[in-house]
Amino acid sequence: VSDRSLYSRTVGIDHDPLAGPRRHVDERGREVAPDLLALMGDTPLVRLDRLSKDVGPTLLAKLEMLNPGGSVKDRIGIAMIEAAEAAGVLHPGGTIVEPTSGNTGVGLAIASARKGYRCVFVVPDKVSTDKISLMRAYGAEVVVCPTSVEPDDPRSYYSVSDRLAAQPNAFKPNQYFNQANPQTHVFSTGPELWRQTNGLIDAFVCGVGTGGTATGVGRYLKDRNASVQIVGADPEGSLYSGDEVHTYLVEGIGEDFWPQTFDPAIVDHWYRVSDRDSFLTARRCAREEGILVGGSCGTALWAGLEYARDQPEDATIVVLLPDSGRGYLSKFYDERWLAEHGFVEHASGAGTVGDVL
Ligand code: PMP
Repeated sequence: VSDRSLYSRTVGIDHDPLAGPRRHVDERGREVAPDLLALMGDTPLVRLDRLSKDVGPTLLAKLEMLNPGGSVKDRIGIAMIEAAEAAGVLHPGGTIVEPTSGNTGVGLAIASARKGYRCVFVVPDKVSTDKISLMRAYGAEVVVCPTSVEPDDPRSYYSVSDRLAAQPNAFKPNQYFNQANPQTHVFSTGPELWRQTNGLIDAFVCGVGTGGTATGVGRYLKDRNASVQIVGADPEGSLYSGDEVHTYLVEGIGEDFWPQTFDPAIVDHWYRVSDRDSFLTARRCAREEGILVGGSCGTALWAGLEYARDQPEDATIVVLLPDSGRGYLSKFYDERWLAEHGFVEHASGAGTVGDVL
């Protein structure tokens, strides 16, 4: 697992995560990173003593929203691009084409901005205008496709991305298939967690989208200590943890198919979490811990707290928090939105002078 050359080739960052926290010093002794890519990963762990006050074990959070692009997906953006360069399938001046509506797009766009690639992201028309604007702000082109057509329709999300990816000099990273996705967690996230906890980690909790995080971190940690438990946090409606497959509102996790990047055998325990529990737990995290988190963080925190209830006092449980709540201010951080979706009975209406005084 500790093949450094493979690490730097796969992850693109020449830093040994076990050697200690990364510290950049330039040739004149100044503490300056050479570029933003060098600041990806090596995110901190923090204790969640408020949220976990009613459970015995120590609950820690890995703060992936502190990556430069705001999510865990920064790690795989650069890794998939550098793996493709090394394999000779992505050439200078090439175009990166990916069907993505969010965090992976940002990770790919940052790496592409630095490396001079063109990015074309294909999104279904249900994606919020904020997310489209965000990807465009990084210089990516975004093609919006109708959701109401059949997959084999030439206008569909699938047809358009396949056609774009077949153009000369185009490369489709395909985060659901690309093994650089789980690999980057074997070489960065997993070793960071091992070093940061001094090997004192009993369980790792995360949501599963592509499954890259769970598979990569799980493989690394179980290789170091076979008794580390991997806990999967899954939305109600996802195929991973149950047969009742239906839509849900939490973004970035759960699926209705089994991706190549996910090894289901790595998960020891599944928790099936409702949208309501996910969103209300994310809100508690913002208010009680002061950590503004995304909806899938709420799912993982709920699963982590449920799992912690049955564990011994001296156990250490780490929950990975993939992104920030900034992208969800008009969704579950908005009281009216919560009430409209039936997650609370009435919006408090706080926001007018009368409500506050
Ligand atoms: N949460 C959010 C907000 C995400 O964007 C993703 C990535 N799809 C995940 C969780 C899950 O990560 P992974 O794809 O590694 O399973």
